[in-house]
Amino acid sequence: MNDLRQLPSVDKLLAQASSLLETYGRSLTTDAIRSVLDEARSIIRSGGTPPDQSELLPRITDRLREWTQSRPRAVMNATGVIIHTNLGRAPLSTEAINAMTVAAAGYSDLEYDLDRGERGSRMAAVEDLLKRVTGAEAAFVVNNTAGAALLALSALASSKGALISRGQLVEIGGGFRVPDVMEQSSAKLIEVGTTNRTHRRDYEMALVTKEVAAIVRAHSSNFRAVGFTTEVPLTELVELANWKNIPLIDDLGSGALLDTAEYGLAHEPTVQESVAAGAHVICFSGDKLLGGPQAGIIVGKAQYGELLKKHPLARALRMDKLDLAALSATLVHYLKGEATQKIPVWRMISLPLSEIELQAQSFAQQLQAVGFTAEVIDGQSTVGGGSLPGGTLPTRLIALTINNPDDFLTRLRHGDPPVVARIEGDRVVFDLRTVMDRPALLHALRQLA
Ligand SMILES: *Cc1c(COP(=O)(O)O)cnc(C)c1O
Repeated sequence: MNDLRQLPSVDKLLAQASSLLETYGRSLTTDAIRSVLDEARSIIRSGGTPPDQSELLPRITDRLREWTQSRPRAVMNATGVIIHTNLGRAPLSTEAINAMTVAAAGYSDLEYDLDRGERGSRMAAVEDLLKRVTGAEAAFVVNNTAGAALLALSALASSKGALISRGQLVEIGGGFRVPDVMEQSSAKLIEVGTTNRTHRRDYEMALVTKEVAAIVRAHSSNFRAVGFTTEVPLTELVELANWKNIPLIDDLGSGALLDTAEYGLAHEPTVQESVAAGAHVICFSGDKLLGGPQAGIIVGKAQYGELLKKHPLARALRMDKLDLAALSATLVHYLKGEATQKIPVWRMISLPLSEIELQAQSFAQQLQAVGFTAEVIDGQSTVGGGSLPGGTLPTRLIALTINNPDDFLTRLRHGDPPVVARIEGDRVVFDLRTVMDRPALLHALRQLA
């Protein structure tokens, strides 16, 4: 069938596709037919062999399934990267998912005060929770941390000077560059110090010679300076800000509420530490180490909280009700002291090596039983999400010896559900620390045996 005229017409295929019409509707089905026919035509024109007539309808069906499947698709994360930005960062707790379902499924008291029977504040509940959990005077939430930093700078330093160390002018990833965000807020960037060393006297000199409206500290997140380096400690930056009666804006990035050092990791700055140091405006993410939904959380001093809330950008960056519901439920886990049991990110961080070992051994045996060459080896899980650069947790990996590891990874990604794993040495490795549904992973692997 190398002749364009031998391809069936759209109408002819439509007539054969009655069940597709019922499921997907006439317009979409017609689009899918056209798309498959177009593809066949271009294959013919370039001298290739087009699909057989009998293959057209199955292709049309595949295309319709692909176009209409729910997205984002569920993926199994066997990489051992706990907060994997490409895979959606933090999975939510059951309670957070339930709270989202409630908010999504019907009406809610989102902006309604049930006691008084009148309009209420959409933020009151989450603000209250944040103040309790962090000990801050004020709290506010926007869409994400980039938005939180933009809002803070716009409200507090627009067309005025914002002081920052050259060592903190970093790019976090995903297009977030500290200097670009500062520029967007129309704050004038005043850089002090050098890439590796910034001293207190550098800040002092700028504070007495320039008009400065805020001092900014940005956590370098996924980047680590080692060797001959100096940064001014947060408490001293707060002192300097208080001396000039200006705010210190602390972009913590991940911002942990629990101490990662208790779980064998490096210490990631906690929100409570920034609050205790007296930082005036502290920004951090909802979906990194907090383990909740996407959110840009701002806590700090009451006077600055009020300024931020009143700024027009606050409305533009407003968080949606589903994320608010999930964030509140996640914060409740911290209040109740159950974060490590309930929040997936913290469950994974605190998972004992002995348990991973046990599961990995049983996994490897079951894979051997279906013909794989599998063994359990030492490895490292990482936290990811721009937190704790270089910080890893010892883990036990299931390593498969495969003829063509790259091809095997591709086949895993095309499975249902898709599995994302990695190659170490020349073996395909799976880290069960981040696998939430282990029987499903075993099932997926067995299918590829
Ligand atoms: C991750 C990060 C951000 C961006 O956070 P989003 O919630 O993704 O917008 C900003 N600043 C720092 C220091 C970060 O680590």
